[in-house]
Formats: sequence, C-alpha cells, structure tokens
Amino acid sequence: MNEQILAAAREGEHHVVRFLRDLIAIPSTSSREEAVIHRIKQEMEGCGYDEVRIDPMGNILGRIGSGKKVIAYDAHVDTVDVGNPENWSVDPFTGALEDGVVYGRGACDMKGALASIVHGGRLIKQLGLEGDYTLYVVGSVQEEDCDGLCWQYIINEDKLRPDAVVITEPTNLGIYRGHRGRMEIEVRTKGISCHGSAPERGVNAVYMMAPIIQDIERLNDQLSGEPFLGKGTVTIAEIRSTSPSLCAVADSSTIHLDRRLAATDTLDSAVREIQDLDSVRRAGAEVHVLNYAVPSWRGLVYPTKKYYPTWLLAEDHPLLRAGRQTYRGLFNAEAVVGRWVFSTNGVAVMGMHGIPCIGFGPGNESFAHMATEQIPVEHLVKATAWYAAFPQFYLQ
Ligand SMILES: [Zn+2]
Repeated sequence: MNEQILAAAREGEHHVVRFLRDLIAIPSTSSREEAVIHRIKQEMEGCGYDEVRIDPMGNILGRIGSGKKVIAYDAHVDTVDVGNPENWSVDPFTGALEDGVVYGRGACDMKGALASIVHGGRLIKQLGLEGDYTLYVVGSVQEEDCDGLCWQYIINEDKLRPDAVVITEPTNLGIYRGHRGRMEIEVRTKGISCHGSAPERGVNAVYMMAPIIQDIERLNDQLSGEPFLGKGTVTIAEIRSTSPSLCAVADSSTIHLDRRLAATDTLDSAVREIQDLDSVRRAGAEVHVLNYAVPSWRGLVYPTKKYYPTWLLAEDHPLLRAGRQTYRGLFNAEAVVGRWVFSTNGVAVMGMHGIPCIGFGPGNESFAHMATEQIPVEHLVKATAWYAAFPQFYLQ
C-alpha cells in the first residue's frame, strides 16, 4: 500500500504544484486571508472532502471521514509581507517554477504544506484509505501575527479537540517534536516631570529605567533550560519615553522585552523573574504581558495575551512513533527528529491545551520570510504521500 500511495502522490504532482502556484498568486497577509480561503474551499470541494466549512474567525476546516480518532493537519494560510521588492529576483506572487523548485512568498512558509495536506486528503479519498478516524485539514488564519490564536478559537469555540495534531510548518521532511515558547513583556517606570532647566525638582523615569536595563542584560545570562530545546533568553526590543516637551524631565519610560521560553518557563515564572529584579522593585516599575486584539478577515476579535507557551513531545510518545513509522514505511529510511527554531500554532494546541503535536512539513525553515523563499517539488510529493499514509500508522 505504501508504494501505491507514493506512486499516486507522484502521479498527482501537477495538481499539487498548480494549486500551490495559485495560492502563491493570492497575497494573504494576516487578517487579509479571505481570497485565499475561498480558493482553498474550492480545491477541497474538488478533492471530494466530506465537509468544508469556514468558521466565524475565518479558518477553513475540511473534513474527511467520521471515525473515532480525530486527527488534524494544520497549515496557516497567512504569510508575512514581501518587504523590499528589490530584494526579490522573482515575482513573489507568480509561483515561478524552475528546475523542480517553486519560488514566491509563502512557498515554504507555508502554502507548500497547505497544498500538500489538501491533496493528502484527495489521495485518502482516491485510494480508499479511510478508516476509523476523522481527519480535519485546517487552513488557519493570523498565525504570523499571533501564533496559536486560531487554534485557541478552534478548540474553545468551534469545540474541535483532536486527539493528535500535525503542525505542517517546514521541517525539511524531518519529524519535529517541539520548540521554545515566547512572550512579550512591557516594563514601565513612572517619574515626575519638571522643567528641564532644574531637573533636581523632578524624578527622571529614564534614569529609573537604566539599572533595570542592566539587570535584564544580566538576567539573560542566568536563564537555563534543558538541552533539546535550549535555554530561555530575554532581550530588549524597544525603549520609549514620554515627556511634556523636549525641555522637560521624562515622566515615563517603557521597555519592550522579547522573552524566549525554555521547556521549564511559564508565564508566571517569566513575569516573576522580572518583578523580582532589585532594580524593578526599587523603581516600583509595572510589569505586564501585552495583549493581542486585531480583527480577523471576518471581523472577529478574539483577544489574547501575547504568551506563546513552549511545547515538547516526549521522545517515546506514540504520536512521534507513528510519524517515524510513516516515514520509514514510505521512504525506507529513518526520519531526522528535530525541533523548530521559530514558533508555531503548537503553542496553543499542545502548549496551552495539552493536545499531542508533532511537526512534519515540506521545505526548509531557513527560507521562511526570505526574499529567496522556495520549496522543492520533490518535498511536496513526499509530504503529500506522508499526509495520506499517516492516519493508518497512527491508528495501529
Ligand atoms: Zn509559518
């Protein structure tokens, strides 16, 4: 059967490539995914999905089968913008195909995977691979802006709680089992403004911030973690201050922290670390986690904290085993097991909700967000075969 799946994926290569090139030709930055969602709907319907629906947030969910075990494949449909067009040697929106490689914005992050999971579903139908499982092929929105928000919505509001989720962000066809989390924290000091000609009458909020900045630089060296995902980090991304005029003492100062979370870090532990700094206590500085509340393309606002928890699946977890067995069965080789450097929707699925996740996707992470973004057609074919075969191995 595995040979048959791989052969059918090869035969259907032109379908996946054509669909991917169509997807690339439809720009879809976060909150502007409407047109690409409708194109995906058309494709899923053409592939014989049992049900295709768009939820109130604007995510698309294609269903195959209605068996007991519920599996979901997730690919976000939004991309980052193109940046400076002069950096591109190909048009980012034509899906140029050259020597077996497709180029353009979203090719690897992650319209290639999206095309492959949709057509993985087609192969399941075509080859009669349905079983006692329900497969949801999900095109999710707003990931580039706020990873995981779409899945918070799908789990909490759509009431879809899969038994296992495959995050299909680029893994270079390896099987990934986690990544560090992250959060955005703000620290604010408040001073007393006065005329700049007599600063001793006031309290300068920027001076209050100075020792905090030094403590945060030191804190970065003290953070720890386990060896697989690595240690947590903290850095200052931005500093601002306010003052009634440029001839006055600053009355507030704010720093914006980018905190990467190790496997043992939590929202509370990361906030407490900052609150417990001597300099923060002495200055009476406020520490808070930022919020995200941007409307989706359907106008839905689903506010959340900018906290994206770490997730890490155990090395001996049955889901990881099923992923590796699928790879072995199809390609007669051992999959590379790894982790992402960046963050994915797994922060909500496994990080917040504890639903087991693995990663498997076509394309190389290093091309994500680059002007050289690309994906090999060979990856698309292999990934399509893997997505068609995986449920069988998962059910075993
Ligand atoms: Zn991505």
